[in-house]
Amino acid sequence: MSDLRNVIIVGSGPAGLTAAIYAGRANLLPLIVAGSQPGGQLTLTSEVENYPGFVDPILGPELMDVMRKQAERFGTEFLDDDVVGVDVSARPFTVKTAERTWKARALVVATGAAARLLGLESERRLLGRGLSTCATCDGFFFKGEELIVVGGGDSAMEEATFLTKFASKVTIVHRRDTLRASKIMQDRAHRNSKIAWALNSVVEEVLGTDRVTGVRLQDVESGKTREVAAGGVFVAIGHTPNTQLFAGQLDMDPGGYLVTEAGSTRTSVAGVFAAGDVADHVYRQAVTAAGTGCMAAIDAERFLEAEGHQDTPA
Ligand code: NAP
Repeated sequence: MSDLRNVIIVGSGPAGLTAAIYAGRANLLPLIVAGSQPGGQLTLTSEVENYPGFVDPILGPELMDVMRKQAERFGTEFLDDDVVGVDVSARPFTVKTAERTWKARALVVATGAAARLLGLESERRLLGRGLSTCATCDGFFFKGEELIVVGGGDSAMEEATFLTKFASKVTIVHRRDTLRASKIMQDRAHRNSKIAWALNSVVEEVLGTDRVTGVRLQDVESGKTREVAAGGVFVAIGHTPNTQLFAGQLDMDPGGYLVTEAGSTRTSVAGVFAAGDVADHVYRQAVTAAGTGCMAAIDAERFLEAEGHQDTPA
């Protein structure tokens, strides 16, 4: 196989894999550079209940495995390696892994985003075991429980408010006495009788061996610590899009998310398309990522056709 490809897809979460399925079925023989930890954020979750098509819950890693097999069926080539460099200043674009350099006539960026974590060992250990970074994904599993939400921004307010649909009580833990969230989101949270506040407080430790049982909080002013029992902890301190490779090459918003033209996946460089969380700080769902992955493959196919590249490089 030549090092020149019609389409290279970077990233193998639901966006990248769906782009691969569509590009594969369009006979574009895509190469997907899947990363050294393929599967994206869904591999960090436990059960997925809101991906359409599954009556019973499916494990996140299993869902990604099924999608990968589906993409392989249509001729996608997988490379479980990290991209270390990209150049989109000239066509065909250049994509480098540690071992090889590839050229692509069209590029789909589906590198996702990573939820920011507090950096505690206990947090890593209990991720997916009562500790979550996504209330929409996991809130349903915490019916009748007392929960902790960490953060003082719009995400924390939104997640805490959403979680009161299931939880008996939600305590918002924020490191300052002033919230960063917009006034309207703050007001909504303040009006909610199920929400309690632990301001000027940081999580010193997430408690629990196999499952979250609570947190140890430290008051930042007095230095005093206290334990709060909780069945779940939701860390909502923001996300970081994985766009470092494209710094200075593709237009980004102030948060570092790729900017796409409304209603399409076109980025600021013709022939480069963005799909999934790398260009979406609002919805961040597997199904929306898959949807934009499909759009990116269709956009790439139409771009190649318009450029007169119906043929596949040998
Ligand atoms: P954000 O605005 O950056 O807020 C992050 C929060 O987490 C801040 O309160 C910050 O504290 C806290 N934090 C950060 N690192 C921390 C750490 N290591 N330990 C403890 N606390 C930490 O992030 P976001 O809430 O995810 O929002 C991101 C963007 O999306 C914003 O523009 C937001 O308006 C938007 N958004 C909008 C909506 C909506 O309108 N429906 C919903 C969600 C998000 P400090 O305040 O002390 O820095």
